[in-house]
Amino acid sequence: MADQNILIIGSGFAAAVTVIHLVQAGIKPATITIVGPGALGAGNAYGCDDKDFRLNVRAALMWIWPEKRDDFGLWAKANITDDPEAVQNSGNFYRRRDFARYVKSCLDTVLADASAPHNGITHHQQIVTSLGTADSGGWQASLDDGRLITADHVILATGNPTPQWPCRVNHAVMASPATAKLLVQNPWDGRWLDHVTSGSRIAIVGSGLTALDAITALARRNHQAQIYLLAPHGNLPPVQADWVKQGPPIWPKPPRPSKILRRFRSYLPDLPPEDSRWQAAFEELRIDINQQWAALNDDDRRRLMRRLGWLWSRYRYRAAPQTIAAATRLQQSGILDICHARLTAINPGDDTPLRLDLTGAAGEVRCLDVDYVINCTGAGQDPFLASLVTAGIGVADAFGKGLRVTADNQIIRPDGSASKNLLMIGPQMASSLGDVVAASEVSLAAIRVAGNFAEQLVGRGKRHDGGIDA
Ligand SMILES: Cc1cc2nc3c(=O)[nH]c(=O)nc-3n(C[C@H](O)[C@H](O)[C@H](O)COP(=O)(O)OP(=O)(O)OC[C@H]3O[C@@H](n4cnc5c(N)ncnc54)[C@H](O)[C@@H]3O)c2cc1C
Repeated sequence: MADQNILIIGSGFAAAVTVIHLVQAGIKPATITIVGPGALGAGNAYGCDDKDFRLNVRAALMWIWPEKRDDFGLWAKANITDDPEAVQNSGNFYRRRDFARYVKSCLDTVLADASAPHNGITHHQQIVTSLGTADSGGWQASLDDGRLITADHVILATGNPTPQWPCRVNHAVMASPATAKLLVQNPWDGRWLDHVTSGSRIAIVGSGLTALDAITALARRNHQAQIYLLAPHGNLPPVQADWVKQGPPIWPKPPRPSKILRRFRSYLPDLPPEDSRWQAAFEELRIDINQQWAALNDDDRRRLMRRLGWLWSRYRYRAAPQTIAAATRLQQSGILDICHARLTAINPGDDTPLRLDLTGAAGEVRCLDVDYVINCTGAGQDPFLASLVTAGIGVADAFGKGLRVTADNQIIRPDGSASKNLLMIGPQMASSLGDVVAASEVSLAAIRVAGNFAEQLVGRGKRHDGGIDA
């Protein structure tokens, strides 16, 4: 039993912290295989080189160990010497690429410390295209290079799915390499910035944190031509305030969507959401929100999100101060134009390569001529997870976004039972477990999973549990 092998599908932060906690819980590195592109720990979130792509929370919230919440901050002070702009009044907001360096240094330390025999983990920089049961009773994964890997246990850590276009894309645009390259479907790695010239007219679709990253990077490059931000409501995320939270509010029992909604309304102070007291109250509401969520059935979860979803998505994800400052500068100079409109189609243009169809708030239709379209909607569907639903391995969650999991991260099978050797860690668990997207929440999930593995495989108990922090 002791040397059962573990396959982690995905290579981002979730995979890296899972390795760290598994090894620290006594699992031998040589029994762990990772499949996923890029450096382990970088992933979609931190695998970007651009120096303007920053963490959206202060350093103290980016922890791997709950008992060492200042570890990244201390590492940053010792190892980041070229980023004075990181230091802001509301905290230190470092570059995402520097956080990836920190994760790598933690991995290196933990793997170097792992007790003998230490042969290291195996990392295949491929994509898993399908997963099925193996004759041995475990799992068999097929990789995109044709390789097959069998494992006793599989941990799904596929993370944030590639964003999809939120509109119709004319076939002719995609068919021509000259215009297809002007559509940036997934802007997270920032490589597209190398191709855009300062005279290009750019449409940014969406107005969340990814849009702010794009705007900040373009501002730094002294972008001269018009940037159109296409968003029906036209609101940029609020900036992170200098908040300090107290304890959680008392929630009415039993949890019901209407009661949760009323609690939000009565608890948030009558102040602007930019005020640190307003954000502190919002952060306090988050402390036990997952317990409220866990008590709701699927219908109630959908009902709650219909009523609360706009408030949640608007104020849950706040921006680093540097990004808001850059957007304000570009808006004041007239380069950034916020269009209260929905993108409905991308077509070939006449005078410019691309012509966009937009629909305004009152239903009015207009066209916009641009050179580039950057998809900053962040919304996508993971085809690999969907294939597990089709194969009868898992069940779609209440919102059809990920797979249903137990509070112990086990995938729930179609018959309602929990799979002890197929688990999931990462943002895809949000529909099942609530507010679990942030790095600190991913760390907690990894600790939970590692504790359970240690109990099963090396006879040790669980080590940690905790609440929401970032
Ligand atoms: C752009 C961005 C910025 C963020 N910034 C912050 C932040 O500042 N602070 C914070 O707390 N949280 C942030 N988050 C939230 C983020 O979800 C978590 O912090 C955490 O990084 C999630 O890690 P992950 O490994 O689950 O996901 P990801 O970073 O999405 O990594 C998943 C990895 O798995 C790979 N993969 C996917 N499918 C397969 C497959 N079938 N086979 C093999 N590999 C596969 C992907 O290619 C990717 O490399 C951010 C998220 C994004 C998208």
